[in-house]
Amino acid sequence: MFFHVMLTTECNLQCRYCFGEAVDDFSGDFADFDVDYDLPRKAAYDFALLAEFCRKDPECVLTFYGGEPLLCADAIRHIMNSAKPKHFMIQTNGVLLDRLEQEYVNRFHTILVSIDGDEALTDYYRGKGTFRRVIDNLRLIIQNGFRGELIARMTVMEQTNIYRQVTWLLNNSEFPFSSVHWQLNAGFWANDYARRNFKEWSQTSYMPGIKRLAEYWVDYMREKHRVLRLYPLLGIAHSLLHNESSLLRCGGGWINYAIQTDGTIIPCPTMWGMKKYYLGHISHTNPLELKKIFVGPPCIECDIFSVCGGRCLYANVTRRWSKEAYATVCDTVRGLVNAVATELPRIRQLIEQKAISLGDFDFLKYNGCEIIP
Ligand code: SF4
Ligand code: SF4
Repeated sequence: MFFHVMLTTECNLQCRYCFGEAVDDFSGDFADFDVDYDLPRKAAYDFALLAEFCRKDPECVLTFYGGEPLLCADAIRHIMNSAKPKHFMIQTNGVLLDRLEQEYVNRFHTILVSIDGDEALTDYYRGKGTFRRVIDNLRLIIQNGFRGELIARMTVMEQTNIYRQVTWLLNNSEFPFSSVHWQLNAGFWANDYARRNFKEWSQTSYMPGIKRLAEYWVDYMREKHRVLRLYPLLGIAHSLLHNESSLLRCGGGWINYAIQTDGTIIPCPTMWGMKKYYLGHISHTNPLELKKIFVGPPCIECDIFSVCGGRCLYANVTRRWSKEAYATVCDTVRGLVNAVATELPRIRQLIEQKAISLGDFDFLKYNGCEIIP
């Protein structure tokens, strides 16, 4: 099982799509959900309980998560000194990565670092100077011997040209990435759709960009004999090549869970405080016997459910966007699946020619990349 360990609700940045939206959303009611707004701001349980909880699952993976988890560097050290999961990972904005000694950083199997593309775009969304601090820190951890997977984790909305920004992350001379994941800011807040331009942007910019990106991805395989880890493309291609269907691809609620700051287990970090979805507590729940929560309608009636998996449990249960608005998100899923499916004959041909291998599409599933943006 995978567990997001939510160390704090605090963050050192005020990104437009997170802090900015939360302020705007303050008056939005939260349907009929009974939400616990009094949870501790920082992890407030005995970390020995977490180590014991993790010990019961031989496949336990712990991912430090926030807010910004590196605001709690002491807690990270403490947990890494006591728990023995199969892997440690972290999702961070990267600004404080220099605060953690290399003996800890180098033990991370994967670091997911938030970066939205080039300097101008990253700083537009995340605040002036953010990009430079993140890049400096990434250079530092590589210099200090980090050899795990480093995934550029983009948040994407209307100011993003997806093709331009993903290819920039791959090809820039400052810090080229080979693993990129992106997530749409869509269906998350209650009040944003009406004032945004999501529908037009997704149709005229995002989806054509995804198609172009899929072509670029396969051209790269042909020319360099290498499969870039562009997670949304990789995850879909893996399923199509193996003819496999998928449950919710982030794993939320069935193989991937989150641990709140009070030790309560929930299906995913965004379901923070939603009492209806409290699934147990690290002090007494066996990680191998956790209840599973699955998406419901409309996903289970959808013609592409077996490949989409339902996109997002949080969005599915909270329905923050109207049916019509959410249909525009589903169109982006169809666009992504079609873009990969269109390229599948070329991919198969490259595998037959041994330019690449089927194994090049393998990855550690549920590693924090939701696959469906
Ligand atoms: S495309 Fe939309 S409705 Fe269909 S499974 Fe995915 S999220 Fe659900
Ligand atoms: S996709 Fe949705 S359910 Fe999955 S981890 Fe993200 S917010 Fe949670």
